[in-house]
Amino acid sequence: MSNVFILDTMYKPLDPVHPGYARKLLTSGKAAVYRRYPFTIIIKKEVEEPITHPLRLKLDPGSKTTGIAIVNDASGEVVWAAELTHRGNAIKEALDARRGVRRSRRQRKTRYRQARFDNRRRKQGWLPPSLESRIANILTWVTRLSRYCPVTAISQELVKFDTQLLQNAEVHGIEYQQGTLQGYELREYLLEKWNRTCAYCGAKDVPLQIEHIHARANGGTNRVSNLCLACEPCNQRKGTRDLQDFLHHKPDVVKRLLAQAKASLKDASVVNSTRWALFERLQATGIPVETGTGGMTKYHRVTQGLDKAHWIDAACVGASTPDVLRVESVKPLRIKATGHGTRQMCLMNRYGFPRAKAKVRHTPYMGFATGDMVKASVPSGTYKGTHEGRIAIRFRPSFHLNTFDIHPKYLTTVQRNDGYQYEKGVSHSSPRLKA
Ligand SMILES: [Zn+2]
Repeated sequence: MSNVFILDTMYKPLDPVHPGYARKLLTSGKAAVYRRYPFTIIIKKEVEEPITHPLRLKLDPGSKTTGIAIVNDASGEVVWAAELTHRGNAIKEALDARRGVRRSRRQRKTRYRQARFDNRRRKQGWLPPSLESRIANILTWVTRLSRYCPVTAISQELVKFDTQLLQNAEVHGIEYQQGTLQGYELREYLLEKWNRTCAYCGAKDVPLQIEHIHARANGGTNRVSNLCLACEPCNQRKGTRDLQDFLHHKPDVVKRLLAQAKASLKDASVVNSTRWALFERLQATGIPVETGTGGMTKYHRVTQGLDKAHWIDAACVGASTPDVLRVESVKPLRIKATGHGTRQMCLMNRYGFPRAKAKVRHTPYMGFATGDMVKASVPSGTYKGTHEGRIAIRFRPSFHLNTFDIHPKYLTTVQRNDGYQYEKGVSHSSPRLKA
């Protein structure tokens, strides 16, 4: 099970404890629940000079999901893990809708209004809002977690492959060595270069093998420019045959393939602009940041025989990864970014006319706000019993909980809405693959 975060009365983070120990502290009244997600308790006395062990916060930023793991480098234990799902697409859709509304407004007969500010130039380092939100999500969790546990270092996967190891790859030719770190970097490089598809038939989402365009047996080299990726059937069928011969009925494919093989992949830093922006902002936190490559992550994961999951990948990021990671019984917390609702004051129908009354207030009503997680204990009636869920408030003492309406007097707040949805993860049945 993932460990429980623990604070002292002065909100100093202490070493995370085993959930069994946390339960003991809670039942004996020595501690209280401070926060439900992530589960954090607060003990009722101050620890003068707490002895804490350095923990490393590891991040594997992905386009949809970011893996987060807190690892004790000395013992190799994965103390806590989470998978953070971003809301990139939702943001894009909202902005598209707004653009549509504004465009329709411009087409209407309205008077000319002088531009109030220059919104045509983008600031240096500008990122699309969907990417910006990804970075904001991660930074939120980095600051949050470093408040609840003694994080002394950060590891981040910065690039898919090491450009240093691959620089001038086309000139010197790097050897295809199975089992070495370089082999992993090469694989990631090829995956990126060939768009994760079979070069011959274009198959996607199939296991791909590294393939010599000009076969080794016929004097082909191990240079990157002679390598591509192929699915197994294609690889088998081609064998040592010549490319022209193998694809004689598709001359245009041969032409494109040879051109793509010669072309060098553009600097990976351009592809990974979000990751670089994240890296710069992580450095600004003042916590030392270590970076790793996707190739290295995969190398650690495969050599340790670990299964693929976002949080496991996160635990494998960087050169500091312990030789043996203890991942058994970790239950990753599933976090989903949901945003904080809309700032639009008046909902519109598809013709741009107001659909409902303009919003009146944002402030909590009777101590509750929409999206708060609550516990309800109803003494009598149809919905007698205890219920848990998120509420939607109306500005009258009848809130909506799950499927029914409820008076706020029956409610207690479990956790305030913080723009994230939580789901307890299940422990991985066998994180370690059988050898
Ligand atoms: Zn194929």
